[in-house]
Amino acid sequence: MKVIESILTKNPCYTAGRKITVKGLMLHSVGCPQPSASVFVKIWNKSSYNAACVHAFIDANDGVIYQTLPWNHRGWHGGGDSNNTHIGVEMCEPACIKYTSGAKFTCSDTSKAKAMVKRTYEAAVELFAYLCKEYNLDPLADGVIVSHSEGHKRGIASGHADPEHLWNGLGMGYTMDGFRKAVKAAMGGDSSKNETAPAKSVKATDPAKSFLKSLAGTYKVTANSGLNVRHGAGITKKIMVCIPKGTAVKCYGYYTSVLGTKWLYIQFTYKNVTYSGFASSKYLQK
Ligand SMILES: [Zn+2]
Repeated sequence: MKVIESILTKNPCYTAGRKITVKGLMLHSVGCPQPSASVFVKIWNKSSYNAACVHAFIDANDGVIYQTLPWNHRGWHGGGDSNNTHIGVEMCEPACIKYTSGAKFTCSDTSKAKAMVKRTYEAAVELFAYLCKEYNLDPLADGVIVSHSEGHKRGIASGHADPEHLWNGLGMGYTMDGFRKAVKAAMGGDSSKNETAPAKSVKATDPAKSFLKSLAGTYKVTANSGLNVRHGAGITKKIMVCIPKGTAVKCYGYYTSVLGTKWLYIQFTYKNVTYSGFASSKYLQK
């Protein structure tokens, strides 16, 4: 997830300076054929632009997120009570669509448009997963993640059809229910009661062939934001699980990657699952 901070400090919504307690997230689509987030940033960052203000735009060309308000700032995105509770995020739209009337459009290059919409959808899933963690929100709880159009049906937003009009018009097969589930999945890690139990043990798919045993022993995770344990010795290897600071692990040896980093081969139990994998020695202390 790449986020560029581009706060709309000149927009009257920003200068109004009101804060909210974040209770939910609202997904929007800009409703015009403009894929570039920076174009919106430029137009909206004016003291004369008082029509709207949102927390972020997702660029349709590269999926980069432009954060345009502090997350707990009161935005002007929902045209109703949702402004008092929800963060508003706009996905930019392909240039090859042309609006004919209301939310109806034609498209001159469907495959290009679909690729762009997929890009913004996936970036939105990542961003919403991050925000749900940040604000302790359950993505599947009623009314937490809503689209602008769902907000209208709930009486907390103005009468818009976004973003489902775009997904439906292009035949993407996306729904808000599917989006919420994708956000939940992207949050990962939590083995909540409703889900199937995880495997009882997970082993590295790429164990290094020979270990130097000298670093064997018991270690504790020192990284504040947790330690990624991987299927192999290297930062490009797939992440198996992220374990919190203070977790005790047993080390059986180490392997030095091509970049010279020492990767400890560790075993530990986390949330009733036994894992064997690799982690950088930088974040482990004996
Ligand atoms: Zn909207």
